[in-house]
Amino acid sequence: MRVFNFAAGPAMLPLEVLKQAREELEDWQGSGMSVLEVSHRGKAFVALAQELEALLRELAAVPSHYKILLLQGGATAQFAGIPLNLAPPGATADYVNTGSWSKKAITEAKRYCNVHIAADEAASRYNSVPKPGSLELTPGAAYVHYTPNETIGGVEFGYVPDTGSVPLVADMSSTILSRPLDVTRFGLIYAGAQKNLGPAGLCIVLVREDLIGHARPDTPSVLDYQAMAADASMLNTPPTFSWYVAGLVLRWVKSQGGLAAMGARNRAKADALYQAIDGSGFYRNPVEKSCRSWMNVPFTLARPDLDKQFLAEASAAGLTNLAGHRSVGGMRASLYNAMPLAGVRALIDFMQEFERRNG
Ligand SMILES: *Cc1c(COP(=O)(O)O)cnc(C)c1O
Repeated sequence: MRVFNFAAGPAMLPLEVLKQAREELEDWQGSGMSVLEVSHRGKAFVALAQELEALLRELAAVPSHYKILLLQGGATAQFAGIPLNLAPPGATADYVNTGSWSKKAITEAKRYCNVHIAADEAASRYNSVPKPGSLELTPGAAYVHYTPNETIGGVEFGYVPDTGSVPLVADMSSTILSRPLDVTRFGLIYAGAQKNLGPAGLCIVLVREDLIGHARPDTPSVLDYQAMAADASMLNTPPTFSWYVAGLVLRWVKSQGGLAAMGARNRAKADALYQAIDGSGFYRNPVEKSCRSWMNVPFTLARPDLDKQFLAEASAAGLTNLAGHRSVGGMRASLYNAMPLAGVRALIDFMQEFERRNG
């Protein structure tokens, strides 16, 4: 039985995508081989790669002066790749600290450049984001890095920070393709695929052309944006199956009406769940209302002694992976693109019934 999987990542994929992958697994495009077994240099796979890039460009409206790179090592490799490519030795980069993922990006960047913290949400216990215009920016910084959606804390920016002429870099791992996006506001966008895009192992990087070609000489080639762009992200063997499934997911997003349709649906899903939480006397979400994530909804029970029972009964009802991140506890429902509204409705019904019995 298929369940509604609320995992934060790797996350639920559209059933249509899984079915198509299954159907063509043994014989991909009449090749007599699976896509797992064909050469990445072959005509058919190169066409797959070109369609993947074209769909991404179309759906996210990526202008022609941005390169689309498909890299390995997840978003975490880019925590190093970004300073290696964008910060010359001795340069300073500004980082906004809004929680767990920001902190990881900061820790890694400190190995390669001077990190200035442009804002730190410690005072809000990472339950809010900085007010527009409040960042303490370094004049001439190499770039400003922020995390539009903190996957663990469930905290999201409702606006794009204005950094003037300094390139803005965004870790969109848990929010890419979840709503319309103005790429031109950013110097670089990166996102691990396993939340909204496809299988783990793939990280997409959208980078403005003028920001590439300046990597430090000691940058590993697979992290060098110029080298990867020059070879259509095939400097080495790419994770071919991840590329294939990501292509199917992008086709699915397009068939659903693109990012505008995704945005409307994601907003409706999040609104319904937050309304149910706020309307109950039993569940609670700690995040400031204007900064609540559409993608990751953490919540706690009035009786934490019932956490285990809640998770066990939810799982038995086909609502899985609702445990909060090990660093924060409680619950977390991740509502990426592939989670249908019916899944959120089923979760709400379950929560209300659980409260009736135990509240
Ligand atoms: C999941 C996630 C990451 C880590 O991605 P990996 O692919 O595991 O490296 C980084 N940043 C954010 C915001 C995430 O949600």
